[in-house]
Amino acid sequence: MLTSRAACFILFKTSTNLSKSNATTLKHLHTAIKNKSLLKKSLLLTTTQRNSTDQRKLFGILFNNYSNKSDCKGDKLANKSQKMGFHYLSSNAAVLQKYRELKQPDNMVQCMYVWIDGTGENMRAKTKTMDFEPTKASDLPIWDFDGSSTGQAEGNNADVYLKPVALYNDPFRGGKNKLVLCETMGYDKKPNKTNKRASCAKVMEKINDTVPWFAIEQEYSLLEGDNPLHKHPLGWPSNGFLEPQGPYYCGVGAFKVFGRDIVEAHYRACMYAGIPISGENAEVMPSQWEFQVGPSVGIAAGDDLWMARFLLERVAEDFRVGVTFDPKLIAGDWNGAGAHTNFSTKAMREPGGLKVIEDSIEFLRANHAAHIRNYDPKGGVDNIRRLTGRHETGSYDSFSAGVANRGASIRIPRRVADAGFGYLEDRRPASNCDPYVVTEYLARSAVLREKIE
Ligand code: ADP
Ligand code: MN
Ligand code: MN
Ligand code: MN
Repeated sequence: MLTSRAACFILFKTSTNLSKSNATTLKHLHTAIKNKSLLKKSLLLTTTQRNSTDQRKLFGILFNNYSNKSDCKGDKLANKSQKMGFHYLSSNAAVLQKYRELKQPDNMVQCMYVWIDGTGENMRAKTKTMDFEPTKASDLPIWDFDGSSTGQAEGNNADVYLKPVALYNDPFRGGKNKLVLCETMGYDKKPNKTNKRASCAKVMEKINDTVPWFAIEQEYSLLEGDNPLHKHPLGWPSNGFLEPQGPYYCGVGAFKVFGRDIVEAHYRACMYAGIPISGENAEVMPSQWEFQVGPSVGIAAGDDLWMARFLLERVAEDFRVGVTFDPKLIAGDWNGAGAHTNFSTKAMREPGGLKVIEDSIEFLRANHAAHIRNYDPKGGVDNIRRLTGRHETGSYDSFSAGVANRGASIRIPRRVADAGFGYLEDRRPASNCDPYVVTEYLARSAVLREKIE
């Protein structure tokens, strides 16, 4: 009796000219292989070496056959989502349009309340009908939700309050309809422990007179496939390899960029919503993109970026494409993803500002470890995979700063050094950082000049 690994090896070896013998080989394998989970492992190993359409088909058949019966937890989940129709469910724009065109009563405005859930990374939303068109967040009532379903409360005391804090036009529903960014509050009306906005807002209030500007470069990657547990970048071949990094950054052409429709749709959605999106570009890793939001003043920087992330997820959902903010999606020679934060105060933007920038950098240096711990949602662990000192990053364990240096923690753009005033770029925040936390720490170090433990 063959072991599955051996059978798989034979399959791999013989499959270079398989076209006629597919059926025979498959039959042979079915009888030969007893240990199915081992087979699955071998298949996974060999899938990286597949190189012909025949092989690809054959591996596909085998993988499906065996992974369906596998007792691996991940596969069970994947199969479940397929059975639930995940694979087939896609938005039907033409059909939906019929309903979108129905006249909406003047006294019924859809307000979608949006909030950050207990992961500190994912967002949730639900809708409330109002009988007027709100013009600011505080026009809207406090609402609540089941925090035990979002990692934000225990089941026996599950209600968490939603406090509207920022209002945007809804680009999906159009008309008078709104998106409402909310803070999460406990029954005692104190910030929920997952609410990072409340303390940020206090710090921004304190430094209000310095007019702090933040502009965040949000990098992200697009994902395809029907298995959310296998993160496959959009457009990457399932068979073979991509050309190494080089042609993709700001690229153009079908084999250089993947998912431009999503980028275009997102850009327009942001502008419609009222988010000060300042640009976009394709990134160094294929199917990775960036958009920039800002400069926004103070607390608005976090609000605007969170809402821009929500719009991105929602736009990509229409295209049945996934979004990931994982700071190092693909290990090896592929760039990670960050959220470079460009920062200035009024004094930095005026003649002589370079000196203020340089002084602030010394306080950022002194608090480096605290910043790293707070620049991703996992206490710095996520970012360590990315801040290697390679792939245009500074190393997580040593602080550095320099003019035009994209391998430093802090970069002073060449333009700024030449002019003698402007802003600094903090290159350390991970793509999945909480912008409320990042801007709060920048304010405390660079402006309030605190020594943070
Ligand atoms: P990079 O060269 O690092 O890729 P980007 O062009 O992507 O830079 O992003 C730079 C961001 O900095 C833009 O969003 C821009 O609006 C913003 N910015 C420009 N001037 C300032 C300033 N004085 N303070 C804060 N942000 C600024
Ligand atoms: Mn950029
Ligand atoms: Mn970038
Ligand atoms: Mn940058």
